[in-house]
Amino acid sequence: TTFAGLGLSKWATEVCKELGLKRPTPVQTHCIPRILAGEDVMGIAQTGSGKTAAFALPILQKLEKDPFGVFALVITPTRELASQLAEQFRALGSSLPVKCAVIVGGMDTTTQAKALMDRPHVVVATPGRITSLLQNDPDLPDIFARTKYLVLDEADKVLDVGFQDELRVIFRCLPKDRQTLLFSATKTSDLETLLQLSSNASYFYEA
Ligand code: AMP
Repeated sequence: TTFAGLGLSKWATEVCKELGLKRPTPVQTHCIPRILAGEDVMGIAQTGSGKTAAFALPILQKLEKDPFGVFALVITPTRELASQLAEQFRALGSSLPVKCAVIVGGMDTTTQAKALMDRPHVVVATPGRITSLLQNDPDLPDIFARTKYLVLDEADKVLDVGFQDELRVIFRCLPKDRQTLLFSATKTSDLETLLQLSSNASYFYEA
């Protein structure tokens, strides 16, 4: 398989070539066509398996066609992962005018609320900080009213650390017809429960 064979457009296949991604990894081969087709996806994949590009490329391709508001919300357990994810989004989307914001703890909340009100296309956040912003600013939940994608990265850890209350707040701000994309190193019963909230999910086991 090639990236073009998975349904990616010319700019995307070119950016893959520039970044040295020669051929799709298994998680990319499974997830990219399904995400492009509008399905919910759960990918069981380790860090280093190419999972970020597996969701970032199809999201960026959809975003390119209809760039409005906060298009995707990516939730990840740690600040470090959040900046790495944003970096990959920016690298993969370097040929598009994509605005990406990182919303994590340890930074000024007023600045972050302002960054969100600018309606960046992609918001990468840790659960605690995005939830406190959503709860403290009555205008913020509205910016996610037309969001198309919710990504839970390292979803097993997000659930394990006990972010259920935060996730409930986040889910409430998102439209029901969004796509939900879950990535996790292991398959846990919490994930099964979470996936039942999505109707048209497809599974992937990396091995
Ligand atoms: P991730 O699983 O997102 O943490 O991927 C980690 C690293 O794999 C990143 O530095 C990517 O640049 C690299 N990568 C992603 N997709 C591919 C691919 N198809 N071929 C080679 N490297 C890749």
